[in-house]
Amino acid sequence: MAEEKKVVRKKIEATVQMNRYMSDYFYELNEADKTRNRKIAWCTSVGPAEILRAMGFLVHFPENHGAMLGATRMSTDMIPIANASGYSPEICSYLTADVGAYMKGVTPLSRAYPGIDRVPRPDVLVYNTNQCRDVQDWFAWYAAEFKVPMLGIHTHRGVKDVGDAHVASIASQMKALIPQLEAISGNKFDMDKLRHVLALSKECSTLWKKVLDTASAKPSPITFFDGTIHMGPAVVLRGTQTAVDYYNLLLAELETRIQNKVAAVEGERFRLYWDGMPMWGRLRDHSDLFAGAGVSVLASTYCNSWIFSAFDPEDPFNSMARAYTELFIVRADDAKEAYIRRMIEFFKVDGIIYHDAKTCPNNSNCRYGMPQRLEALTGVPSLTINGDLNDLRLVSDEQTKTNVEAFIEQLEEK
Ligand code: SF4
Repeated sequence: MAEEKKVVRKKIEATVQMNRYMSDYFYELNEADKTRNRKIAWCTSVGPAEILRAMGFLVHFPENHGAMLGATRMSTDMIPIANASGYSPEICSYLTADVGAYMKGVTPLSRAYPGIDRVPRPDVLVYNTNQCRDVQDWFAWYAAEFKVPMLGIHTHRGVKDVGDAHVASIASQMKALIPQLEAISGNKFDMDKLRHVLALSKECSTLWKKVLDTASAKPSPITFFDGTIHMGPAVVLRGTQTAVDYYNLLLAELETRIQNKVAAVEGERFRLYWDGMPMWGRLRDHSDLFAGAGVSVLASTYCNSWIFSAFDPEDPFNSMARAYTELFIVRADDAKEAYIRRMIEFFKVDGIIYHDAKTCPNNSNCRYGMPQRLEALTGVPSLTINGDLNDLRLVSDEQTKTNVEAFIEQLEEK
């Protein structure tokens, strides 16, 4: 294996602006929490945020908070607190970290944003089970805690082809939310507002896709690890002009990098695709581990989860229903495999890393033979690394390093 080089991290200049936008977002929520001048909805990360925004809610995303707990490495100490109250160490470690942090009365928001000492209190909780059932149990815990209503959309799972019956079912569930949200928000539903929010969300999605697609350039101007940071506005600010402004800025910077052949990983030797969740508490370590060997992990199913190509402001409910059901995580293995094959080709990758996240079977795709089937079809080798999104007790750094180094040697021999 090539000798490990000192890693020179290339700063993305747009990050400064992103941090300002994220800060404004969290302070606005905090202000609403303290003054109750706006209603607050909690929403799952691929839930119907557009409907909530169109009805005047400010929106908090507990998964974003869960990822912050992971990235700040607070999560591992919080998880046992939730475990002690009956939430198993085997279930989603976003859920257990988030509930544990609430029970302990701490939040990573306090470190990043002075003056914020808690997550904003909800007026309503709205989930979509398109990603997993854990989100329903997670929100149910808070609904009982805050004594506020919980509303939900129940999505078909393991979908091969998204058909009209799926779309009709989800669209009608979305419409059924409206009278309840009107009662909670005190605002009348306005279709024009929804069309406006959806148009902004679609623009955000289109730009975010273009940002991620820049990784098809050789060398790639962006890595998966960059993507996990820069996806923040696509998750929490989609449906706003702010998110659109941000991705225009970021895209321009990445396109300049491509023109000037600026590589995210100096001396890019191999190009890898990441499947599954990030290990939030090890982002920097993993970024350095791969970059130090001249390997660019440049694209992922994870960051692509906030691309909603089907959004159509002319047909809001049906198009939202379709977009939120066409997501990778909702689909059957054959649809997932066809998708990854397209990604292998588009991003010109030499190998795939599958993260088998112990507490998220929903986003671990290596457990039923997929890596072997895809390798047989494409000849592209893969490595499975065991770990977790948030519970660092389930991560073995030594084993990860050894396995990654052996995999890179295998690529060199190839
Ligand atoms: S998809 Fe996985 S990480 Fe996300 S909420 Fe569900 S179980 Fe947790």
